[in-house]
Amino acid sequence: MEELKNIQPVLCRNEKVIAGPCSAESYEQVMDTAKQLYEQGVTIFRAGIWKPRTQPGGFEGIGTIAIPWLKEVKDRYGMKIAIEVANETQATIALNNDIDILWIGARTTADPFAVQSIANVISLAKSIDPNKDISVLIKNPVCPDYNLWLGAIQRIANTGITKIGCVFRGFKTYKKSIYRNEPIWAIPLQLMTEHPNIQMILDPSHITGDRKLINKVVREGLRIYNMDGVMIECHCDPDNAWTDSKQQIKPENLASYLDISNFNCNMFTGDVSDMNDEDKKLLNNYRAAIEKTDEKIVNLIVTRLSIAQMIGKLKAKYNIPVLRKDQWKKIIENVKNQLAIVVNENFNPYENSDDINYFISTMMENIYDEIHNTSIKIQEENNIN
Ligand code: PEP
Ligand code: MN
Repeated sequence: MEELKNIQPVLCRNEKVIAGPCSAESYEQVMDTAKQLYEQGVTIFRAGIWKPRTQPGGFEGIGTIAIPWLKEVKDRYGMKIAIEVANETQATIALNNDIDILWIGARTTADPFAVQSIANVISLAKSIDPNKDISVLIKNPVCPDYNLWLGAIQRIANTGITKIGCVFRGFKTYKKSIYRNEPIWAIPLQLMTEHPNIQMILDPSHITGDRKLINKVVREGLRIYNMDGVMIECHCDPDNAWTDSKQQIKPENLASYLDISNFNCNMFTGDVSDMNDEDKKLLNNYRAAIEKTDEKIVNLIVTRLSIAQMIGKLKAKYNIPVLRKDQWKKIIENVKNQLAIVVNENFNPYENSDDINYFISTMMENIYDEIHNTSIKIQEENNIN
């Protein structure tokens, strides 16, 4: 994956927000929304002109008529322009019309043929003009498939362009959810840890499908997971938008939805180097304590598994089956009772919300499921051999 090492940021230092309507609808709607976003300090304007619709019959985008409107936004407000491209023709039109950022939508990322055909257009444009400034954002595929996402990034990186970023817009899942697309954070996190040079931009609009949930997702994506910026749908008249009306917000409300003021300059730029000496020392102590605790955890888990192995040997000797459901239920009950006592002793009761209790007990169940599965495997080995 050498090609991914050269990837550079798409968003500059003081650029954190890409905003604009889901779809370009009319000259007036584009200009009005752009003007208001410009007044809010937004520097990158997004608008879909070809809309991938799950089912036919809806508005499929205004098409190339909107290109002069977007050029006017660029000329008048100095904003960069981002549009979605889903095939060769659309990528060619975008590149021939000075669109600054091309984004590949979730449905397209899931289709390696389509991604490759876009990559071919980019390679061709690069061979004609090696200095052409091309930026591409790649949304996660609709399904939670890490390698498919990575594969799309590789195909675009193989063109030789370096300004490539990712957009996290959540995943379609069959289960019922408050979200339109479930934010399975583990997947972007894997990408962010394995490829820290690739920017990860949060798209709270398509994750939530509902503006009421945007605050919550922004807080998680930016404050907790430290993503690099947001792409958010804004419309001058959201309720009457032709597409995605429930999730679009008014430009004037942008700062409050992003949970910050002055969002283009000082959004989550805090760093450990800003801490005073006392707090720095405290942090280092906490980190050292975590390391020590981890050592103990590893030791205890291995001890527990080795006891399970001895039990396995006894079971094998008397032909007793490995799994004993009642016994496992008892162990889990025991762990949960113990957990309730320990959580109350260790966490400040005033900050110890129901959420914390829920997170911890769910985590314990998952951890114990893993420990149990491994114990069973170890015992199985004894039984068969
Ligand atoms: C969009 O950003 O307008 C869009 C269609 O998003 P996605 O590809 O994430 O569904
Ligand atoms: Mn949309």
